[in-house]
Amino acid sequence: MGPGELAWVIRAGDCRGAAEPGTSSRALRPPIPPVSFLFLLLLAAPGARAAGYETCPRVQPNMLNVHLVAHTHDDVGWLKTVDQYFYGTRNNIQHAGVQYILDSVISSLLAEPTRRFIYVEIAFFSRWWHQQTNETQEAVRNLVRQGRLEFANGGWVMNDEAATHYGAIVDQMTLGLRFLEDAFGNDGRPRVAWHIDPFGHSREQASLFAQMGFDGFFLGRIDYQDKLLRWKNLEMEQVWRASTSLTPPTADLFTGVLPNNYNPPERLCWDVLCKDKPIVEDARSPEYNAKALVNYFLNQATEQGWHYRTNHTVMTMGSDFQYENANMWFKNLDKLIRLVNEQQQANGSRVNVLYSTPACYLWELNKANLTWSVKDDDFFPYADGAHMFWTGYFSSRPALKRYERLSYNFLQVCNQLEALAGPAANVGPYGTGASAPLNEAMAVLQHHDAVSGTSKQHVADDYARQLAEGWGPCEVLLRNALARLSGSKEDFSFCRELNISICPPSQTLKKFQVTVYNPLGRKVNKTVRLPVQDGNFLVKDSSGRIVLSDVVIHPSFDLEDHREELLFFASLPALGFNTFSVTQTSGKIPRSRFPQPSSRNSGTHTLAIENKYIRATFDRDTGFLREIMNKDQKLLLPVSQAFFWYNASTGDSESSQGSGAYIFRPKQEEPFPVSRWAQTRLVKTALVQEVYQNFSAWCSQVVRLYQGQRYLELEWTVGPIPVGDAWGKEVISRFDTPLDTKGQFYTDSNGREILMRRRNYRPTWNLNQTEPVAGNYYPVNSRIYITDGKTQLTVLTDRSQGGSSLKDGSLELMVHRKLLIDDFRGVEEPLREDWSGAWVRGRHLLLLDRNRQAAAGHRLLAEKEVLAPQVVLAPGGGALYRPGATPRKQFSGLNRELPPSVRLLTLARWGPETLLLRLEHQFATGEDSGRNLSSPVTLDLKDLFSTFTITHLQETTLVANQLRASAFRLKWTPATGPAPALPAPVLDPAAITLQPMEIRTFVASVQWKEDS
Ligand SMILES: [Zn+2]
Repeated sequence: MGPGELAWVIRAGDCRGAAEPGTSSRALRPPIPPVSFLFLLLLAAPGARAAGYETCPRVQPNMLNVHLVAHTHDDVGWLKTVDQYFYGTRNNIQHAGVQYILDSVISSLLAEPTRRFIYVEIAFFSRWWHQQTNETQEAVRNLVRQGRLEFANGGWVMNDEAATHYGAIVDQMTLGLRFLEDAFGNDGRPRVAWHIDPFGHSREQASLFAQMGFDGFFLGRIDYQDKLLRWKNLEMEQVWRASTSLTPPTADLFTGVLPNNYNPPERLCWDVLCKDKPIVEDARSPEYNAKALVNYFLNQATEQGWHYRTNHTVMTMGSDFQYENANMWFKNLDKLIRLVNEQQQANGSRVNVLYSTPACYLWELNKANLTWSVKDDDFFPYADGAHMFWTGYFSSRPALKRYERLSYNFLQVCNQLEALAGPAANVGPYGTGASAPLNEAMAVLQHHDAVSGTSKQHVADDYARQLAEGWGPCEVLLRNALARLSGSKEDFSFCRELNISICPPSQTLKKFQVTVYNPLGRKVNKTVRLPVQDGNFLVKDSSGRIVLSDVVIHPSFDLEDHREELLFFASLPALGFNTFSVTQTSGKIPRSRFPQPSSRNSGTHTLAIENKYIRATFDRDTGFLREIMNKDQKLLLPVSQAFFWYNASTGDSESSQGSGAYIFRPKQEEPFPVSRWAQTRLVKTALVQEVYQNFSAWCSQVVRLYQGQRYLELEWTVGPIPVGDAWGKEVISRFDTPLDTKGQFYTDSNGREILMRRRNYRPTWNLNQTEPVAGNYYPVNSRIYITDGKTQLTVLTDRSQGGSSLKDGSLELMVHRKLLIDDFRGVEEPLREDWSGAWVRGRHLLLLDRNRQAAAGHRLLAEKEVLAPQVVLAPGGGALYRPGATPRKQFSGLNRELPPSVRLLTLARWGPETLLLRLEHQFATGEDSGRNLSSPVTLDLKDLFSTFTITHLQETTLVANQLRASAFRLKWTPATGPAPALPAPVLDPAAITLQPMEIRTFVASVQWKEDS
């Protein structure tokens, strides 16, 4: 997102014009200390410098110091693809070429030793770096060592915070910071997190940054009402307490809101992309403007300084893809600094301006040694005007959002098998396999214009291409690893199109095998579903026992379409696989056929599906879900579920703002029903009971209960959304219950901790609600729930979506959107998705629980969803992996299961003989009172894994770029009282204790066993 095309929008959100400097509380600013004291401070300064801050510039303690941060914001794809941005092609779309930016910046830094610059996006920097000569690399290393080129954030990308899952955030940050560690060592380690463009900020992001070892965090975009108040009240900078479970200061992060998003002050943009006048200091020139500009700058700086608490303030001198001709910027900044500081000497001005960096600015704030107020909610939703809520992108491009989540699942499977099988996974009978391409593609997808759905269509297509290309080398790796671990070289194939019931091996072979790999650290059961051609099948497990199976014929509403699916029940070992054999038989095996289609008012008996745990009843008249019973917990709740659509605004007399890729703005508060009734069909077999609901030609759903399943599955299919009436549509699935929820509902933060939301309310300011629907939407990464204090209704999602509770007892999720106009945030395309992404299928998992049992239900199910089993097919009868070996049809990578509260977050190759291991407590403090799953848990890592031995274990920070024992973070004093630094936990591989919500990261040296 950039300033150029959006000048009016940014102005709308810019509070500088609206703030009243006279009302700010000047008393809060520390008085300027006497000179003798300053002298002592100066003497003390060098010794007081913390690691990483030694190279910071000298400031003037008795003046207002303006830290100029020269920077460029380089989106890893937005209006152009990643490669188009890097090389500078398609400049007709947007003038931008990152390779030239880096060339130009490095030359400019080398030309003048006072200049400084920060760089952020490692996806671009690493590519540029690998194309440089040794001499250039050495010169850049010197600049980094001197603190003149500083890396901020240092992730592969600057990730989105609303549509991202925490596992993928950790992975992408690890990838970027690993590059910096390898190329520059400790000199290149960013001290500051820098999310200047993401459209709202999650609390989990701050918690993760704190756990990654960052000293501070700077952001650009927050709600305009929130910003105005902070500006007035000198609360632009605070300590963010980002976890309710982790002991402070573990998840405390100093957080600063930048004054002007990430742009320079008006009139002071000296890029080739800007139109501002350069500084002309030759008084004889008719273009002379130096004096006026310096005065203007002094006013700007002083005014801004009033709104921050220390005698330091920061100005971001750069913006989107700027510094392609870095000399323009630096030449003018050199002059500005010289003229302002000369003037200060000549006229007694008390403004000192300097080249600085976010870390050096932060360092000065830290040295000010103030007590800072504490924030413990988040920065969602983000609005930059009364009718401009950026809550549409929570749901934009649902197909891409699902593909990203599915790729996360596949990458973890790939990483695990690479770790379990060792080098045999990389080079084996199927060629060279690798996890790195998918790891990089996934990192790119976390960018704030990628998974957010806010890029142009051709860029979204390119993101999908990168994922698809990443899957290939992982599939080779999986083949190698499965052959090694099973001892049999099979013709493995992956059915990537199972979601549309296409899988050639199961549809053509009379005999095949199905290997199902479970990436969880505990045993799971899964009902495997494969499309088949006509026939009966016999399924046996790895020990030759017949397993329960069935063929279901889809009760298609179209009589031409007769799809059949084989279902069988698979019991899977922890971190391992079972191989099942499937044989087509001629014998009579009973098959399930659907009964006659039900039409409205046809019969009086109830339409219901039921298993041991759940009973779901449907309304005979409407065909909608009517009631759910949790038989175990003896709960009965009327629940009505149906699809609706909001009529997307195209602007009105109040505001020209319409709904688009970023913005959600419905025309009316009340959505329209897709249909007032659904045509239904019922299927009942031994393994599954399903109600097929057809709402319209473009909206249908299967409500499903598998045997033994404690939740109801709603598999919806929506699209292509019809827009022949010229109305853009935003489609929701809504659940209505009589629960008295008192305006409250709950959403997860990046799939991890839970935040309470209140309708028409913000925890830190008196909200003036101007959009009663869009202004109550929040990101839902994995779950949303409502409760009356006794009963909880939870919906788990299979991708990120926007959600809300707009009436008590009700909750809704936006599943798809098709819009006919652009929303003026720079994309300049309506979100139509006429081709790819037009038709979307997804699943909502519905849980009904008593409150005390609810967390156990949704935590464990969410883990199972995000790390779902991987199904691999083969004809069977492959050659032995090595002569004389016995093939193995069942395998577990663990010698014992992990306890249910522990998630194996990461198991991946780190080096030739090292693995990266992350263990996570997946329950929050006090969350589970039923089974005591919120208690600390202790694990023994010795002999935990079956294929390798851990010979040495080191504990690191979350991103593995520092040893935990020696990691140091700046200390801040929160208003709630100082939080004592916590000692690093004792590292005993035989007793690794995890506190609620704690993630512990290890680099393990390992030896793979010859044959396990
Ligand atoms: Zn951006």
